[in-house]
Amino acid sequence: MSEVRHALSRSQGGGVGDFVLAVLRRSGALVEDLGYAISEAVLPESLVQDFGAEHLLMAFDQEVAAENAGSALVAHGSPLLDAAVRLGVRYGRHTRLYWPGMEPSPPRNLARRVQDAIEYRRCRSPQITLTWAAECLYYLFNFTCTLWSYDKQETLLSVAVNGHTGIPCPGLGQRWEALVPADSPAYELGKAALRPLAELYAVARSEVEAQAQAAALDYRRESDRLFKRDTRRTRQYYEGTIAELIRRKEAAKDPGRSERAEQQIQAARLDWKRRREDILARYRVQADVRLDHLVAWAVPCVFAKVRVQHKSSLLEHVVLYNPVTGEVEPVRCPRCGKATRSLAPADDKELVCPEH
Ligand SMILES: [Zn+2]
Repeated sequence: MSEVRHALSRSQGGGVGDFVLAVLRRSGALVEDLGYAISEAVLPESLVQDFGAEHLLMAFDQEVAAENAGSALVAHGSPLLDAAVRLGVRYGRHTRLYWPGMEPSPPRNLARRVQDAIEYRRCRSPQITLTWAAECLYYLFNFTCTLWSYDKQETLLSVAVNGHTGIPCPGLGQRWEALVPADSPAYELGKAALRPLAELYAVARSEVEAQAQAAALDYRRESDRLFKRDTRRTRQYYEGTIAELIRRKEAAKDPGRSERAEQQIQAARLDWKRRREDILARYRVQADVRLDHLVAWAVPCVFAKVRVQHKSSLLEHVVLYNPVTGEVEPVRCPRCGKATRSLAPADDKELVCPEH
């Protein structure tokens, strides 16, 4: 009975299309899906300069672009995507907040923390060979989640993603709330490289979908209760009506009466079926999730180069310690890009997650 529909992913060529449309909507453009992998947008005046036109016909698939004269293909490397990314980043900057502390130093027991946070399978204990601090941007994607059933309910769902690793950071929000962030940094540090915003957005979107499912489930409990109540009442009513009609039919002395009663029974059954469908539609839960706004949190983090030994080979990789959460974060598997807290040596060359 529940159905989580992603207002953004209904469209268009996966992550890239979703991202561009979300940024345009967020910026006040009028966006309409025209069909598979094709959308049009009418831009507000403030965006015309960024996109070079007031009206955009966007195709998110090469074939669709070829079939639609006048459409612009939106894909990695296309000017339109670049313009959308610039716009998205600008929003991030508008609401960029800084950790109020000075440059963090590595915690004394960092090696122990790394060992507790990450499992190195078939390796000797990890050693830290180098540490440095750099500013890391965390993006907080804020989504509006609308749930519909017998009434409408709106909630804000937020997902924090580490912009450097592309890994969700669920513990950060609560810790950040307890701080008084600064408008400018109190530290002077280099910046850790950022992954493309469209990719971070795709990570946030899949996270928020799970959150929306959970919210819909909560909401459904109440909806289910009312659904059962209405179904029970309807059943009592129709069962009573039909039983009465059957009695009348059986007691009928002439065939005309008996036939009329039979017709009434059939009509009551049909009515009941329609009523059941109405109730089902009334209490079906639908969820719609839309990107609302983006906030960037700048956090000076400690990076540590970790060396482990597997047989006779030495393997190295970098882990990240976040001073706000006090946590060594999960690492990104170099093969599949998934977050992991468990690594194993592969081909004596790199450390990869257990999926390989
Ligand atoms: Zn992997």
